[in-house]
Amino acid sequence: MKEVEKTAIGSDAEVVNEVTKGDEVHKPNTEGFSRRNFLGVSPTVLATAALVGLTAQAQDTRDTRKADKDTSASDPGPENSPLLDENPSSNMPPPTDHGDIGPIWYSFDLAHKRVQEGGWTHEVNSKVLPSSKDLTGVNMRLTAGSFREFHWHTADEWAIMEYGNARVTVLNPDGTMFIDDVTKGDLWLFPAGYPLSIQGLGPDGCQFLLVFDEGDFSEDGTFLLSETIAHTPRNILAKNFRLDPSAVAKLPTDQLYIFPAKLPQSLAQDKAAIGGRRVESPIRYTFKMSSMAPTRKAPGGEVRIVDSRNFPPNKNIAAALVTLKPGALRELHWHPNASEWQFWLAGKGRMTIIMNEGRARTMYFNANDVGFVPRVATHYIENTGTTDSTFLEMFKADQFVDVSLNNWLRHAPPEAVTSHLNLGPELIAKIPAEKELVIAG
Ligand code: MN
Repeated sequence: MKEVEKTAIGSDAEVVNEVTKGDEVHKPNTEGFSRRNFLGVSPTVLATAALVGLTAQAQDTRDTRKADKDTSASDPGPENSPLLDENPSSNMPPPTDHGDIGPIWYSFDLAHKRVQEGGWTHEVNSKVLPSSKDLTGVNMRLTAGSFREFHWHTADEWAIMEYGNARVTVLNPDGTMFIDDVTKGDLWLFPAGYPLSIQGLGPDGCQFLLVFDEGDFSEDGTFLLSETIAHTPRNILAKNFRLDPSAVAKLPTDQLYIFPAKLPQSLAQDKAAIGGRRVESPIRYTFKMSSMAPTRKAPGGEVRIVDSRNFPPNKNIAAALVTLKPGALRELHWHPNASEWQFWLAGKGRMTIIMNEGRARTMYFNANDVGFVPRVATHYIENTGTTDSTFLEMFKADQFVDVSLNNWLRHAPPEAVTSHLNLGPELIAKIPAEKELVIAG
């Protein structure tokens, strides 16, 4: 990919200096620059300009330029080469990109990591990805035995286990308690305001991605048991807990957040210790996504959709886990009901987001990256790597909903489609008629 892009930079450069046309002076225009790039990668392709319907002015510019002297896209200043290599289309956009749609990429590998004894956490929220206003992602690691301390928050918490094993607990307001052990591929959903805990289990603790249904959420802003205790007057604690002052003196006076502890007893023993069936939650807050049959399995990959329809407690955060084989495409589509917050679990790929007002942006994604797609914006994702790519499409919504461009074009009257696309009926019939989600490469 790098070599291809370098070729494009070298030979597809366009004149962005002032261009004289007759008596007029035309100012450089970066919008026009990317439009002119639509010509292709070599001077001979310039001849096709008329075919792509460019303006007479742009045509004139091309005809008068000397390709061998063209230095429009040269970049003699400093460069961050590793970043350019990872995302070549950002610095040198493909000719179909145009305009500005705001930031659509960030990476957990750029986010500050808060490390404490027992694990760490870091987050991607609207502070670092300001376009994304609906959801925040937090990645967290707990070593074996370590706790993310008892806490609660203003947002719903959705999670997927990325590694290892954990024990989670959540209390319903009616006093019933949910406890479960989770492993790689499992989900949980804890409602806003419900108190919960997460503890790493053996042999090596756990790592998981949390998704909150607030774009400006911060893991540093959760409501903690330790701080609740630390900032309640001691005599009130004594009265509330019916403890004498010597016991109250032992209570924590500082935040715990993440801290090491002994490994717990077995799940069965913990369930028995809190009162067994009598206090068992009637609601199941975990979901075995890894053992779920794919919602759609296709030659190019598979998609698992989890939302309020198959995981009822999950009322506000819909998810699709997508696996694409090398070369496969998550088909051109958009989401009518919400913006998309995307997390890359494995592999690599390229996404273009096509907006209104002729705007489009292409970016490359790698594992641990976050993508953002505005609501109703068309997008595809292509696996550009040599291994499977896996990513999550997350929505602040009760259901996953998408509109397929193929599906629309094949379900609209064929003559109407011909009028729009200049394709005869036999060519239109080649377009897949039904929503496939994933199209093989
Ligand atoms: Mn999508």
